[in-house]
Amino acid sequence: MPQAPTAGRVPQRRRLIRVPDLATFRRTLAAAAVDGDPDAIRRRALILPSRGAVELLRRSIEDTELSAVDRAVVLPSMFTREDWLADLHASLPNAPRLLSRMEREVLFERATRVAAETAPPPFHVRPGLTAAILDFYDELRRRGRTVARFSSALAEQLAGAEDLDDRGSQALIQQTAFLTSVFEEYERNVSAASDLTGDARSGIDEHLLRARALAAAEPWRIDHIIVAVADHPTDPRGLWPADFDLLGRLPALAAIDIVVTDNTHDAGFRERIDKEVPDLEDVRVAGTPRSPVLRVANGDDARVCTEYRDREEEVRAVARAVRAQAAEAAAPLSRTAVVFQRPLPYLYLAQQVLAEAGVPFQAFDALPLSAEPYAALVDLALVVARTGGTRDSALALARSPLLQFEQGGSAVTLADYAALDRLLIESRVSAPPSGYVAAIADAIARQTRKDDARAARATRAAFAVAALATSLAPFRGAPTGSAQVLAVLNTLRAHERPPIAANRERHLRARSAVHASLAALADAFRRYDDGPREPAALSAMIHHWIERQTFVARRGTTGVHLVDAVAARFGDFDHVHIVGLVDAEWPERQRRSIFYTSGLLNTLGWPGDIDHLTAQQAAFRDLVRLPAETLTLTAFQLEGEAVVAATPLTDEARGLTREAVAPRDVRIFADERLALAPLAADGMTGAPAEWLALRQRRPALSTPEYRGHVGPLAAQEYRVSTLDRYADCPFKYFAGSVLGLDEEPAEEPSLTPRERGTLLHAIFEKFYREWAAAGRRGINTGNLPEAIERFERIANESLDALPEADRVLESARLLGSIVMRGAGERVFLAEVDDKKDVVSRSLEVSLNGTYEFPTGGFGPGKPIAIRGVADRIDELSDGTLRIVDYKLTRAPGDQAVQLKVYGYAAQKRFAKDGREPDVSVGQYISFGDDSNAVTSIAEKNSTVALAVQIGAQQFAQHVTRIEAGEFPPEPADVQLCEWCAFSHVCRRESVTEKGEEGGAAEA
Ligand code: SF4
Repeated sequence: MPQAPTAGRVPQRRRLIRVPDLATFRRTLAAAAVDGDPDAIRRRALILPSRGAVELLRRSIEDTELSAVDRAVVLPSMFTREDWLADLHASLPNAPRLLSRMEREVLFERATRVAAETAPPPFHVRPGLTAAILDFYDELRRRGRTVARFSSALAEQLAGAEDLDDRGSQALIQQTAFLTSVFEEYERNVSAASDLTGDARSGIDEHLLRARALAAAEPWRIDHIIVAVADHPTDPRGLWPADFDLLGRLPALAAIDIVVTDNTHDAGFRERIDKEVPDLEDVRVAGTPRSPVLRVANGDDARVCTEYRDREEEVRAVARAVRAQAAEAAAPLSRTAVVFQRPLPYLYLAQQVLAEAGVPFQAFDALPLSAEPYAALVDLALVVARTGGTRDSALALARSPLLQFEQGGSAVTLADYAALDRLLIESRVSAPPSGYVAAIADAIARQTRKDDARAARATRAAFAVAALATSLAPFRGAPTGSAQVLAVLNTLRAHERPPIAANRERHLRARSAVHASLAALADAFRRYDDGPREPAALSAMIHHWIERQTFVARRGTTGVHLVDAVAARFGDFDHVHIVGLVDAEWPERQRRSIFYTSGLLNTLGWPGDIDHLTAQQAAFRDLVRLPAETLTLTAFQLEGEAVVAATPLTDEARGLTREAVAPRDVRIFADERLALAPLAADGMTGAPAEWLALRQRRPALSTPEYRGHVGPLAAQEYRVSTLDRYADCPFKYFAGSVLGLDEEPAEEPSLTPRERGTLLHAIFEKFYREWAAAGRRGINTGNLPEAIERFERIANESLDALPEADRVLESARLLGSIVMRGAGERVFLAEVDDKKDVVSRSLEVSLNGTYEFPTGGFGPGKPIAIRGVADRIDELSDGTLRIVDYKLTRAPGDQAVQLKVYGYAAQKRFAKDGREPDVSVGQYISFGDDSNAVTSIAEKNSTVALAVQIGAQQFAQHVTRIEAGEFPPEPADVQLCEWCAFSHVCRRESVTEKGEEGGAAEA
């Protein structure tokens, strides 16, 4: 605790300056800051809570005090607490470096490891916990307690618990022993580091700095301090007892002025400060507290705070109010402030909402580094670094827009990564990303259908992904912690993509903050503890560190101020909008100790919750009288999905004169101006204007173009199977077969559908060839067992070539299991049930050619070139044909035309002497549908021959529509949309079931 002035030195002038309100507070600070001659001002420093506060006070001084005098501008030093300690440190000749927070965390990490050997903790020490132990140690020391005092005070409190059967208290005793041991080990290491003059590892922390500053031979250059920040229960950025103690004892400091408002003074500050700084002289500055008008929106002046649905609606309401005030008065927008407790998400929201409303703004708050895209890149890199990467994680990292790769002299593109992704899925590559080059080469060699262009793309991407994974590999295997961290840093540096001009400055700031953090961590390891780290723990440590970092990305220099509640106290505003007034944010929550209860902490000098709450109420009471003219208070009701309540703190504004503001029907946001009639697009620029121009060029929704009519297309050769897509939905055909869009391949734990289909067809083909060679024709009840046995033998021979896991699965499908018939048995039973004798059997029958298809009239048919292969065509003894198609899953719906068209073409192909045979059997045999294994193409009470004729006619109609360019989104069943692979490119708003009138109304 501070002592009375040291004997022998000039007595320090210590004043407590009380002011009635924030306007007087600011004026008093400004006047005191520039009081006296330039030399006196240069020897003066103000301690303020944040950089934002420094900036606002500096502007206030420039605007009011200095513009009134005709002389050179001299300002005193303006420090945050951290700046003050850094300046003090810089004034010490030959002092070792001030250890960074990261270096101290590394020293604490080592101390926890050493301490755990002799005093094991009752918990597992994770990286986040190490940081919390360091925070606790700092708070202990800043409250003027030594480690010995900590240990003895808690021992006293917990005395006797060791003998009791009280596991909670015993754990606290164990924890205290551990923490004491950690603190002692850390202090031993820092003390040793402070003696290492000239060594790279030398350094001191702020606690040793205080001792050195008091013992310094050279006086500090500052002799007058003005404290404009309160103490800790009042403000988390405030000064600590140890700080006040230091100020009271610094040899060169001749005067301390502590400036507080009456509200803060009366809320417990006086009692505390009298203990921290004795012999304070009381000074009162007179002033009349402001009494702004409280504006209440929506005409309801019974309330003080207006609630909106969510934060975005709240900020939009503020933007409207700001625009309305700007229209009423000629004052510049910089006289208006939007005040929040926590900068996020208001800074991000305001960026979007205020910009859209055409309200310029300025902000000084630091942004969290973890919310920047570059920090998200580190997350991706750490996943791959920690685990070696999966297909998803490695590709996500390589595809990051913040990285780039070159292969063969040109950039690897997203299309290359897509080709690699598809090939990895289709080929079921299980190699880790570092082995992709060899794995992809092998997969390409095994492909039956070659696609050289796609293979080349996949190979280029494989090189990039493998390079990335290899370069991150030392994170898991390097012999030192610094090398592990540098693996990530070097990888990011080696492949970084230059930022685009639009957000270049912000990107570079975030990037350099991330790079500096990683480099500093590697450096701290090298200096103090460079053993290898467990990858998961190291990854958590980096995450944790980045989460603590902020970076200043200055936004705007004019316009409405966006400030937090602490900085706002230092600004001069006419209009203030206090936002986000919900219980969870106002009052600002105190961080709870994770180590001890508040009762135990009170014995170590921690303030009680009530001190904090009283101080916060006092600060809010000041804040509502901050503006010169008007105040609005707003809150929101929903945070994501959760309902939140407004804070009772708003009652502090009940004494203000209220003015109800009627709702105004003014449209200022692009969505309101563009979506509501009549259109109000005057003066609109940027993306909304471009969007509007595009929309105005768009034809009416009722025009054919909007409904999938693209104009005539040339006739071509049609793959019959793809026409089933048209039958399902014409737009689906357009997306897949005309635009050539790929469907996403499904990830298969076993064989892909294509692999399974190939296997199945090969086995049946072999079976029927052998069956015919053995002199057998049809399958009937007599030879069914023989057919099944032969099929099993052939299937088992093919299955032998598969990996074990696939073999088990495919064996069950082909040969059956206790709950399901096998594929072979289903096919044979279908034939037995037909009771038709087979004359000859044709397998994998190509039906390519041009056929004349009926169009439904009496005129000539339509010649159409088709491509298609029928799985099996049997010529039966009654002169008819049986057409069979195997389906891996289930039979298609009645709208399908494929098998009917095969039947139609087969009639022509198998015609003898000018006579076309009828198709008497046309069936799908499905291997994925046990309840409906055999499905005829004939409709109920009809014949297969008729189905073939109708199908051929439907096919011709589909082709006619395709050539007319008609591709409406018109699913045969709207449920098809649910799993349609093209739904993301489909104009689904105009979807109707086939035959219905189209849907979307003109917007
Ligand atoms: S989402 Fe529906 S309407 Fe659109 S293409 Fe797919 S099936 Fe057709």
